[in-house]
Amino acid sequence: MATGQDVAAAAASWDEAPNIIEGATDVELSPDDCDIEFWITTVAQGSLKGLVRGRRPESTVPDFLQEEGPLRDSLISEFAFRSVSEESATKACAMIAAAATDLRGLEFYSTQTLDEARHAQAFRCHLLDLGVEENDLVDTLERVAGPDRDRILTPLWEWGRPVFDDQFINGVVIVTILLEGILAPTTELSERKWHPISAATGDIERGACVDEIRHLAVGSWFVRQHLQQHPEDTARIVDLIREGRRFWDELPTAEMMYKREVLYQQGIELHGAAFADAEIAPGRKLVDTTPEERLMMAVEWSREVQDSRLRYMGLEDAIPSSTG
Ligand code: FE
Ligand code: FE
Repeated sequence: MATGQDVAAAAASWDEAPNIIEGATDVELSPDDCDIEFWITTVAQGSLKGLVRGRRPESTVPDFLQEEGPLRDSLISEFAFRSVSEESATKACAMIAAAATDLRGLEFYSTQTLDEARHAQAFRCHLLDLGVEENDLVDTLERVAGPDRDRILTPLWEWGRPVFDDQFINGVVIVTILLEGILAPTTELSERKWHPISAATGDIERGACVDEIRHLAVGSWFVRQHLQQHPEDTARIVDLIREGRRFWDELPTAEMMYKREVLYQQGIELHGAAFADAEIAPGRKLVDTTPEERLMMAVEWSREVQDSRLRYMGLEDAIPSSTG
């Protein structure tokens, strides 16, 4: 794995950062590489410079995404839910910062707290780009994402909260392995789905992907460091991950994502020409994919990212044995 400040800078660059699957499996970053000074100069004054609500002001949304239709419904549903998820991530990271036992943890999770709050804002405000009225924004979020929040995020929060319980490393494990490790690949899928047809949407996704590489890499570093110093904690953390996964598997996340993919598919059928020859993966045109295929891609990437991260952290025992 590559390391150091140069790697941190490249990983935070819009143009140079690898995609999330490569970045989240291969990049090694420590909180020293990504301290407050780094965040201010390279992120706030660097990759975020000139962005307005997470996107380049000149990037636009095509007309057909501002008109009623399945593609717009799919995008609104996705961004509304992701916005409320990022709100939860913001609070979780603030709790991790509060539980930190040293300055490294305090500073890094303070920057991640702000990153997640920015994501929530960028996803939320993109609904305005899609034609949602400003004074209808909060109601739209509630109407579109409220039910899924209640059946997915609320139970997850209720499960995680007591486990967090002021324990820094538990919070890092839950956010890095159980939340971001599972969700980050869906961000990558999303970038590949929307970027070809909407520059503004692609910008917001790109920004989130770039941040995610840093969050996953540094979060993994904290876990690895903790286990090197406290090997006696390994079994407990493996149990925590297994329990979290079991809990996660019972939530209707796949069902929610599948509904969106079905709408996206109707959108492909209606606006096929807009996708032109865009590919979701080398040699695989977006217009030829199916909802099931896209969902499986996210699941596979998620497994890849998690397995390589767990190996890096010294948590091989938490890797589910393959069923092949
Ligand atoms: Fe985020
Ligand atoms: Fe994140």
